[in-house]
Order: sequence, then structure tokens, then C-alpha cells
Amino acid sequence: MVIKAIRGFNDILPSEIEGWQFIEKIAREVFENFGFSEIKIPILEKTELFARSIGETTDIVEKEMYTFQDRSGDSLTLRPEATASMARAYIEHHLYARDPAAKLYFIGPMFRHERPQKGRYRQFYQIDAEIFGVAHPMADAEVMVMLMEFFKRVGLEDVELQINTLGCEECRPRYKKELTQFLAKKVSQLCPDCKRRLETNPLRILDCKVETCREVIGGAPLVMDFVCDRCTGHFERVRGYLKILNAPFVLNPRMVRGLDYYTRTVFEAMSPKLGAQNAVTAGGRYDHLMRDIGGPDIPGIGFAMGIERVVLLVPDKRETARSPYLFIAALGKEAQLRAFELVNQLHLQGIKAEIDYEGRSLKAQMRRANKFNSRYVLIIGEEELKRGRVIMRDMEEKVQEEISLNEAIEEIKGRIY
Ligand SMILES: [Zn+2]
Ligand SMILES: [Zn+2]
Repeated sequence: MVIKAIRGFNDILPSEIEGWQFIEKIAREVFENFGFSEIKIPILEKTELFARSIGETTDIVEKEMYTFQDRSGDSLTLRPEATASMARAYIEHHLYARDPAAKLYFIGPMFRHERPQKGRYRQFYQIDAEIFGVAHPMADAEVMVMLMEFFKRVGLEDVELQINTLGCEECRPRYKKELTQFLAKKVSQLCPDCKRRLETNPLRILDCKVETCREVIGGAPLVMDFVCDRCTGHFERVRGYLKILNAPFVLNPRMVRGLDYYTRTVFEAMSPKLGAQNAVTAGGRYDHLMRDIGGPDIPGIGFAMGIERVVLLVPDKRETARSPYLFIAALGKEAQLRAFELVNQLHLQGIKAEIDYEGRSLKAQMRRANKFNSRYVLIIGEEELKRGRVIMRDMEEKVQEEISLNEAIEEIKGRIY
């Protein structure tokens, strides 16, 4: 029986990788210009890190995490998101000791046991950016401006920034009470999950995708009408700074978050090309996440972007013109050995080149050269080799000429650059 990949786990093949590399490259460039540094974090963490940060009664922790006991009996979890791990690393290595403000980004896979559907995987990739240690609303604006600059640079000008505030620990309980009272009156219209959420975590109902629940939610009170003066002030300043930086945004008073740790500002980047589930990035402020996982009470704000979704949206960057790839076709044992040496020298000099290992016919080798989309093919024949000559064929112009084998490298470099 042929062994296949696990359901929901996806291979990203060489033919698709160009888009991924492009997105990661632009993210690194833009983020580093904004003063962010890359961090790498483990794939596995202690389960309690996520239970305490994301929240015990969230969908992720209740039913989506890959949690298991390792051989020592410890409960471990494949990270379902990166923020908690990054915060854990920031605390563990006392990154705040030198300067409380830290700007970090991370690129890597996350794991959630969700129902697999088209374009959604159980191992999926995210680009995360976080500013730790800054409570000032300038940080909120800066991280959103950086995100939108990324979308501009990858060619997605139509991505829209939507923002909202979720209030703080002081004002959210008031809203929660009001919302619970409202929903309790409509309990018969709620889905079974939401009936349970009404007891455990009523705010999560605002996130429900079930149609009957959506109708109820449409009439629910808005968190914005219940936030305290300080939260209102913070949100006003965030909007003010976005305007100063010429960053367009749309207010979405119904935006909520599936994770418990968010406070105050939340935001999403929406693409009109993605339909109903059109968020390509979600983010927000989490001023007490560090405290909740046992660290000092240090604020933070950041976002997570799903790479698979961005790949779908980014226009195809692949070159349709012939690549600078060079193919060396060799005829006969002696010629093949020279080709082997030559291709190695080209690789050492940074030129993409390929040979045929099997000693096939010239016709078969030319077919391979075409598959590689090579602009040039160097043909080493037995006769020419005796005279120290090789044939250089330009596949685009469809012309060829003899050149000296000793000067072949210089000649190739001259043409390719
Ligand atoms: Zn508040
Ligand atoms: Zn529901």
C-alpha cells in the first residue's frame, strides 16, 4: 500500500514555491524596514501555554489542538498560533530587560485539527509580527501601516483594513453582561454550540458562522457602546495616527476575535477576492497576555497572516521568458566527464546549470533542455572536444556558434549577465 500524507497536511511543491518565496521575501524586507527582527520558536510547547493564553473555552483549545502526552508523560501541543510562543520566549529570555519594546516576526507552520476544506489545512503557515512592551496607540497604527505596506508591495492594493475595539478588563465585563442578557432572550434561535457558549463564553457567540446565530448577532448590542473612556480615548488616537500616516481604514463595529487574550484594538485585512471568509490577516492588542502566562504585565500588539491565502491572491510572478538556465548536452563518455566538471564550475560561480546524467541521445538531451526552459545549451560533442571546441546554442534566437572550451565559462557569464 502506498503511504500518503496525513489528511489536512499539504505538500507545497517546487512548481508552487515561487509565490511562497516571494511573499516571505517581501515580508522580511518590509518588516525589517520597520525595525522588526526575526525569531524562531519551537513547534511544540507545554499545553498549558495555549490553554492559559488563548482561553480554555475557545474553539482552538476545546477541540482543535494537536495535544498528546510525550514519553515522559508531559502534555504537549503542536502550536496552533505563534503569539503565545513568542510572548513566552520574550519573557523566558528576559528580552524586556534591555529595552521593553521588542519588535519580532516569525514565519512558520501552525497546527489545528479543523475540518479540512479547500485551501484550509491542518498544517498551515503564518507570518506573525508582534510589538511587545508598547501600550501607546502609535504602536497599533504602526503595525497596521506595516501590514498594509506589505500588501501593497506584493501587489494586493485592494486589501482593506478594518478596525474595531474590544475594550479592556474593566469595561468588557459590562458589555458581556449586557450581551448575555440580550442573547438569553433569543436562546431558542441559537445553535447547540452557542447555547453552551452562553454559559461558558458568550462573546464567542459573536464569532459563530451558523446562519440562525448570525441573524441574532445582527441585532446584538455593540461593544463600542460599552467601552470605558480610556478605551475610547485609545481607539480615537489609533484612528488619528492612521490618518496621520495616510492609512485608509474602515470601522467594523461587529468584528470580534476567537481568542480570549485580545484587548482594545482589533483589526483585519480583508480581500474582496476571498468571498465571505475574506480575512487574510487578523490581529489585535493583548495587554495582559504576558501576565496570564505567568510573566510581567507587559502589553503587546500584533497580527497573524495566513500564507496560503496570500499565495492564492498574489498575481503569478513566474517568469514566462526563458530563464538564464544553461543546459549542457554531452555526447560520449569523455564529453560527459567534461560536462560534469563544467557544470560544477558554473554552480560554484552562481550560474544555474544542468546536465544529463544518463548519456542519452542528443535529441533526448535537447528535449530536457527545453523542459528546463534553458536560454542556452552548450553542446559538447566528441569531434569538437578533440579540437577543444564546444557549440553554444541560443534557444531563443535559434542560432549557434562554436566557442573554445577553455573560454566557455567566461562566454556564458558574459551572455547570462
Ligand atoms: Zn476599557
Ligand atoms: Zn452558533
